[in-house]
This record gives sequence, structure tokens and C-alpha cells, in this order.
Amino acid sequence: MNRRQFLCASAASFACVGNVSAATYDLVIKGGRVIDPSVGLDAVRDVAIVAGRIAAVEADISGDAADTIDAPGKIVAPGLIDIHTHAARVAEGAGICLQDGVTGWVDCGSAGADNIDQIAAAARAAPQIGRVLVNISRTGNTSGELMDINRADVALARGAIARHRDVVIGLKARLTRDIAGTNDLEGLRRAQEAAAPFGLPVMIHMGQSVSPMRAILPLLKRGDIVTHMYAPAPNGILDDDGRLLPDVAAARRRGVIFDLGNGANAHLQWDVVERATRQGFWPDTLSTDWTANSRDNPSVIDFPNVMSKFIMLGLSLAQVIACSSVNAARVFPAFDDRGTLNIGAPADVAIMELREGTFAFVDNYKATRTGPQRLFPVATVLAGKRTPARA
Ligand SMILES: [Zn+2]
Repeated sequence: MNRRQFLCASAASFACVGNVSAATYDLVIKGGRVIDPSVGLDAVRDVAIVAGRIAAVEADISGDAADTIDAPGKIVAPGLIDIHTHAARVAEGAGICLQDGVTGWVDCGSAGADNIDQIAAAARAAPQIGRVLVNISRTGNTSGELMDINRADVALARGAIARHRDVVIGLKARLTRDIAGTNDLEGLRRAQEAAAPFGLPVMIHMGQSVSPMRAILPLLKRGDIVTHMYAPAPNGILDDDGRLLPDVAAARRRGVIFDLGNGANAHLQWDVVERATRQGFWPDTLSTDWTANSRDNPSVIDFPNVMSKFIMLGLSLAQVIACSSVNAARVFPAFDDRGTLNIGAPADVAIMELREGTFAFVDNYKATRTGPQRLFPVATVLAGKRTPARA
């Protein structure tokens, strides 16, 4: 029995029955440095794909392939999953971030009950897995959406979820002072109330809130997500002396997830990042807070650039990839079978290049740090197929 027959038998696939002259594999990615933290692999390997799934990850795979990507010198990683984006705001968003290696994304709170239909439609139309967090404010992400607490309408939010159960996977509440004012805690309570009957997580946008983290964190349950984790004071994760708040460490211990949410304004400041990471408080997940304009924003540019910041800060390449693939996949059940190159997994692959040089990394305050390495997106494979390269 040759490999293809074996794969056909084991996968119960009918596509290749009797097709003895066909190539053994649909696609082989040859000779790259495969980094798959989900299985602890970091080695030069070939990755073979059949029928949209990973068929083999081995040194020197020899079977015929209908298509081959030569990857010596490249990083071959599970497709990236960006759990904080606004990719559904415009129709072309999903296609743009796909070119950066993003094979799954979550649009976080762009829309509330009043405008969720359009965002949900964009998520459904995306080439990769697009999912949505509905904003507890019926208006979605606007300036000051929780200043009027009546906009946090639990019944309307539940209706929005019920209409779009296929793509809505949680709720979002933005708690910053100029967005929520003194309604931060009540807005979050209402988000939890809307989420409860569906068993969904809530993501909070933290930083510069009226209420301190010690009042906000008790309202979060296991599996909820804190994004913009390195937002500067007031009411960040550090005390006035720069020490990590014990409440924050305790929230992580009980299963609250801390997400980077790089963003553009007031969410990321090197001083906070450096103080927190020196105390061992690293992100569970990396994310960009991406929009279709992010390439023009030196703080974001693309997901591999945001990942590279944490190589500079001291995480290993494997840890950075874990935070952007398997860790992210574990946050939401929608990505259960993603974030891995394990045999049988959907063949979503990010091929990147780790270049050496002097690279400037920018926070949200135009402050730069330089690092000697930067990941660049090279090619993306989605469901076993090459996708159009970035122009
Ligand atoms: Zn955002």
C-alpha cells in the first residue's frame, strides 16, 4: 500500500479512489524550519498536505506533489490566529490579513446589536475562519459607546447573538474612561448577563478606566479575556511603583486570559511592557487590534511585526508562535482544530522569514525599541491551498 492509498484508507476519502496516476500529495512545503509548539516541534521538515489536511510532517518526504513550496531558510508555522481585530469592518479586510499569515481572526466589538448583521455577513464571507464578538453597546465601537448605559441593552445583545450563533463567539466591553465613564462596571455586568445563557466569554478592553482593576477583575469568569493588557496608567496592571498587581496575577491563575491587543492609541507603552515582562507577566496570546489601515501604522504593520516585538523582549521564537497560534486557538472553541500542524489538522500554514538586521519596533506613543530580528510574512496556505501573495 503506498502512502496515498494509506491516507485515503485512513481518512476514508473518496477523492482519490481509482486515481492511481495522481500525485501522492496535493502540496508539499519543502525544507523549512517547522515550528509547531502544539507538538513541541522545531526542526527542518517537509510538510505534506492531502485534501486540505496535514498528511505528513517528516524529513525528506519523497512522494510526488501537485504543488511544491520551497521553504529552506523559512519558518513554517501553524496559520496565525489573531483574536483581536476589526477585520470585518471592510470587505477587503479578511483578504489583506490572510496575506500576512492570518488564517483565523476575531472581530472584537466593531458592531453591537444595531449593526451586527453587516459585520456577521463579512465574517461569513471571509476566506479564512472569521468570528465576531458583539459589543454590549448596541451601537458597537463608536466614541463613547457606553457613556449612555441604556445602550448596553442585554435583550438586544442576546437577540444579536441568537441571530448569528454561527459566527458570534462572545461579547466585548470597552471600559476606558472616555468610552464608558463611570459605567465601566455596569457595562461589564450587562455583558456577562447577555453572555450567560449562551455560555460565551467576554473580552474587556482595559486601561485608563474610572474603576481600578481590583474592581473589574472580579467580574470576569474563567475563559474571559483582558485585551490591551499593557495599557498604561491610570488603572493598568501595575501599581504606582511599577509592581504587578496581585489581583492581576490571581485572575490569570483562575483562568482569565491576558491578550496583547497591540492597537494604535494608548494601549501599548514600552515602559509598561518592560516592567511587566521583567516580572514574568507575558501575554497568553498576541493580537494586533488590526484594521485595514494597519499596514500604514508603524505600531502594527502586520501580525508578524507584532510577534517580532516579543522576540526582541525575550520570548523564544517558539513561544511567540505559540502565543499567535495554539494558545489563541484554545481561547475560542471555534478554533479547536487550528493552531497546529499535527497530522489530520486542517492545513492552514503561515510561512515567514526571520530576517536579521536592525529593526525598529514602535509602541502606541511613537517610542521605538530596536531588535536584531523581525518576522516577515512570505506565503499563506489555507485549507491546503496557496493563497495570493502580498503585493
Ligand atoms: Zn479593538
